[in-house]
Amino acid sequence: MARKVLVLGEVRDGSLRNVSFEAIAAGKTVAEGGEVIGVLAGKEVSALGQEMIQYGADKVIVVEHDKLDQYTSDGYSQALMAVIDQEKPEGIIFGHTALGKDLSPKLASKLSTGLISDATDLEEAGGNLVFTRPIYSGKAFEKKIVTDGLIFATIRPNNIEPLAKDESRSGDVTSLSVDITDLRTIIKDVVRKASEGVDLSEAKVIIAGGRGVKSEDGFEPLKELADVLGGAVGASRGACDADYCDYSLQIGQTGKVVTPDLYIACGISGAIQHLAGMSNSKVIVAINKDPEANIFNVADYGIVGDLFEVVPMLTEEFKKL
Ligand code: FAD
Repeated sequence: MARKVLVLGEVRDGSLRNVSFEAIAAGKTVAEGGEVIGVLAGKEVSALGQEMIQYGADKVIVVEHDKLDQYTSDGYSQALMAVIDQEKPEGIIFGHTALGKDLSPKLASKLSTGLISDATDLEEAGGNLVFTRPIYSGKAFEKKIVTDGLIFATIRPNNIEPLAKDESRSGDVTSLSVDITDLRTIIKDVVRKASEGVDLSEAKVIIAGGRGVKSEDGFEPLKELADVLGGAVGASRGACDADYCDYSLQIGQTGKVVTPDLYIACGISGAIQHLAGMSNSKVIVAINKDPEANIFNVADYGIVGDLFEVVPMLTEEFKKL
């Protein structure tokens, strides 16, 4: 059944986040041959419309307004509701990002519809669209179908492969004028932490340190390995609580959920709350002195040893490649 599907393009620092392209790919599956419409909301974002088309959107609708310069759920929901009123889609896909997690339940409630959140896979099976999503902190997966009405889902970053970029594709990028009113929140200032390279939630390679790194300086060898592999550095809560690193690096149940291609856990015991944030990584390597550490139960490759010896050796070897 061909459907009209809206896909939100997420913009950060003037560029589309990769999850936007993954959402377009998911939107194509939901559309089943129908139309995929990219939506951009913000200030001066229309130039990004063509890129959404090159990644598979059929057309793009842009809502630009000074009050959309910074994300607020009030502002974005007004913008999105205007597009939804105009287009009357049968499907909506967002990334399961901080923004998507905040905005999607608000819109679902406004639309009196259900929401499949944090989908890691989507396929057509037996005449149904079947979404897979992790439950119980990633210990099990459930399959969900929408039996009636709007299909509204958020997708976990790094799980659904984007379509190949096709620079020859073209399509309409049109503006929709929306009067953004009555914002209950106004962002006065955004204070950013100094970014250390690759964004953790979209990184293909993560080198994570736990209490085993023993100090702030203990993260240095991990940073060097991350640099060589073009990856990001993450951490367990143990390392954050010990003040070895910032909480923005925390991975787990109360931190970020990540699914990189390669996750190297260094000096992390593998508590269930940590596994909740990384156990769906494609390849997991664990380095730990304790052969009984629980992290080895989820690891594809385990190295029993001192991380301060093993990590520099890995860095040297990868440098040769
Ligand atoms: P530890 O458990 O102390 O493990 C350190 C490991 O390092 C050990 O296995 C040790 O053998 C190894 N080691 C030591 N030295 C070396 C060395 N030189 N070389 C190699 N290995 C070495 N935790 C999270 O990570 N993320 C969360 O989101 C999270 N949320 C939580 C929510 C709640 C409600 C609760 C109660 C807990 C949460 N935790 C979370 C905490 C979690 O239970 C663990 O306490 C924490 O993950 C332990 O961190 P760790 O593995 O770094 O430390």
